[in-house]
Amino acid sequence: MKVYQMKKKEEIKMKQKPKKYFWHPMTDTRASEQETIIIERGEGNYIFNDSGEKLLDAVGGLWCMNVGHNRKTVNDAISKQMNKLSYYQLFTNIAHPKAYELAEKIITLAENEDMAKVFFTSGGSDSVDTALKITRQYWEAVEKPKKKMFISLERAYHGMHYGGTSVGGNDLYRKFIGPTLEGCIQVSSPHKKNKWNCEDPEKLTQLCIEEIVEKIDYYGADNIAAFIMEPIQGAGGIIVPPESYWPAVREVCDQYDILLISDEVVTGFGRSGSMFGCRGWGVKPDVMVLAKGLSSGYIPMGATVFNQRIVNGIESAENGANIIIHGQTYSGHPLGCVAALEVLKIVENENLPQNAKEVGAYLLDLLKPIQSEYSEYITDVRGKGLMLAIDFEDAGNFSPEEITNNVQHVADYAISQGVLVRDELKTIIISPSLTFTKEDAKKVYTSLANGLESLRRKNRK
Ligand code: PLP
Repeated sequence: MKVYQMKKKEEIKMKQKPKKYFWHPMTDTRASEQETIIIERGEGNYIFNDSGEKLLDAVGGLWCMNVGHNRKTVNDAISKQMNKLSYYQLFTNIAHPKAYELAEKIITLAENEDMAKVFFTSGGSDSVDTALKITRQYWEAVEKPKKKMFISLERAYHGMHYGGTSVGGNDLYRKFIGPTLEGCIQVSSPHKKNKWNCEDPEKLTQLCIEEIVEKIDYYGADNIAAFIMEPIQGAGGIIVPPESYWPAVREVCDQYDILLISDEVVTGFGRSGSMFGCRGWGVKPDVMVLAKGLSSGYIPMGATVFNQRIVNGIESAENGANIIIHGQTYSGHPLGCVAALEVLKIVENENLPQNAKEVGAYLLDLLKPIQSEYSEYITDVRGKGLMLAIDFEDAGNFSPEEITNNVQHVADYAISQGVLVRDELKTIIISPSLTFTKEDAKKVYTSLANGLESLRRKNRK
């Protein structure tokens, strides 16, 4: 099997040709000189490019391929469904059986007796906006129409629709497309490198919670609909909060009667080492937002799950708010539902949350020492389960541009050794399939350690 070879300039240019009519998501429209890797095939934890060269996929597609690539039982289930009923809708009183089956499965897996109803969508951004709209509708239904505001975290990522962009924690995403939703406020991320630079986890929780309470007092709990957060912030740089943070947020939400939305698009279905991220801290949110791992990326699919309180409020509304005036053509697509049912079977049968926990801990142990070995470049190594980050941010000797180049150098070097990781400006992110083995983890570690050594050699020249 051929291992990946970095391409020469002329080859890169050739590969730009098919891009004439195409924009990449989240990409500089002028970044035409960069190498594009065209993926043609996937198998287990590996992907293969258009020359048949193989790469270990430590990105898991886009942290979504939880069961790995090209699983026969998932493909067969999709194909069987395709030959029976390739599409039908779920609007008004029409359905297909797989939607009911999957809704029941999700409620069972939630291990939260309060969870009551599932609303299907076509992906994570849909699921986030569903959560935001329906929580506002809930407060209308129970005659508290002033409760419209949302609290979210700095560094948060909640997808790219207007709702999710409004509660996102990165101003850049709003810069050119505003105005976004009114009434969205942010509080500090529970990150030791936030404005307090606090290394003591208990103290950090205390500072974060005090800030949340201050904001609630300032804006008034009567105006706040919900607090939305990722159990572990993903795209913001894999921020694992202190142990006490999540339970403390739940307590504040209860105290001020604010709904808690857990955006589990990345953490859902085992990635963080428990079936859902919030359950890792024993916390029961009012709403769960799901996508990615739900169907392991085989077919676009998402879901938003609501607890009994919200369901009761909406179903017993007397002002018309009992009607769900929301939905998409592809909500609960039958192919997505069968893919998800088959994927979740694998997740349970192979106990993938446990594997994510063990292999993630193993990889974190391997990676931790590189922080001190390459301290001129790396400022932190962190993660939980199979969501890991190597942080180059704030490395004192380098300018922001140099830091980005350092990250790029290490990520490119890893590719040259047959391992694909994700470089996010100042951070390398590792988020592979939950089927990753310790041997795979070792390959990731070796490629990154060699990449850092190569970076050091280059900078010494
Ligand atoms: N929420 C979180 C936490 C995410 O990480 C993402 C995507 O990465 C989304 C929502 C949006 O999901 P999608 O890209 O499927 O719309």
